[in-house]
Amino acid sequence: AKAGGGNQFQFYVASVDQEIRNRKRLERELHQALVEKQFHLVYQPQINLETHRVIGAEALLRWEHPIHGLIPPDQFIPLAELSGSIVEIGSWVLDEACAQAALWSSEGMPIRIAVNLSAVQLRQDDIVATVLKTLKRHLIPPGRLELEVTETGFMENLDSAVEKLLQLRNEGINIAVDDFGTGYSSLTYLKRLPVQHLKIDKQFIRDLLVNEEDTRIANTIIDLGKSLNLDVIAEGVETEEQEFYLLNRGCQLAQGYFFSKPLKPDDFACFVAAFHHR
Ligand code: C2E
Ligand code: CA
Ligand code: CA
Ligand code: CA
Repeated sequence: AKAGGGNQFQFYVASVDQEIRNRKRLERELHQALVEKQFHLVYQPQINLETHRVIGAEALLRWEHPIHGLIPPDQFIPLAELSGSIVEIGSWVLDEACAQAALWSSEGMPIRIAVNLSAVQLRQDDIVATVLKTLKRHLIPPGRLELEVTETGFMENLDSAVEKLLQLRNEGINIAVDDFGTGYSSLTYLKRLPVQHLKIDKQFIRDLLVNEEDTRIANTIIDLGKSLNLDVIAEGVETEEQEFYLLNRGCQLAQGYFFSKPLKPDDFACFVAAFHHR
């Protein structure tokens, strides 16, 4: 920025300039993180409460920064979405998750992997091709993959999102609506979208049975799932009471710390073995 007089304008220019520099630096760091393999995935078990089986694993991104240590995704994914880096990072996530699924499959654990897909990724023209190529590269049957998309992901350019998700669905890939109920929910898009799962956001599960409104919202999503013939999965289940309530209320699927935190691959495999022998 050009220094010109000690007024507010100068401050404004300086701070915008600073912000651009910060953003550029983060962009470089995120790219560097990919090159230097600072990212890894952890996997959280998704449980069928009725059959007591692990039905899937949600892949969640972790960034081990050489100086700042472990940075949670909430602190860099929104920025990666702004800068566009999420496209490159998201492709890596998809590839890594499919590689893991292939490995687990070869070890006798053919489990479904759920991968978070950013709205920015869904906006890319080649997203369908990217997903299909990745599955092929690792010889993963499409039914073994679930893509978790938020309502925001659908709503920005609904027609084009619907078209892409239909293509993915036609190939046999599963689609879940993530954070359901937190965005600009609209029931009309559910009719148009080829989704199989609704995920109740953890903010409604946290105070389930304590807060009447949250309980009603969770109930409503469960009933909506039933009437639209979609499986509902509750996120953030932390207590036995919550599990019990959900099961009795007709929500068969759940994930949360009560069962397990997101785990490194080896720990995940151990968890599944132990859980199934309980
Ligand atoms: P999300 O997709 O809604 O994922 C659920 C978050 O809840 C995860 O946080 C998970 O670790 C956490 N969680 C699971 N069970 C419990 C529980 O019982 N209690 C509580 N308090 N939390 C629980 P995490 O891993 O920090 O991820 C945060 C968000 O970052 C995710 O929210 C998702 O929106 C985003 N994210 C993570 N990995 C990826 C990725 O690979 N790609 C994209 N686009 N987004 C990602
Ligand atoms: Ca998710
Ligand atoms: Ca959520
Ligand atoms: Ca989310």
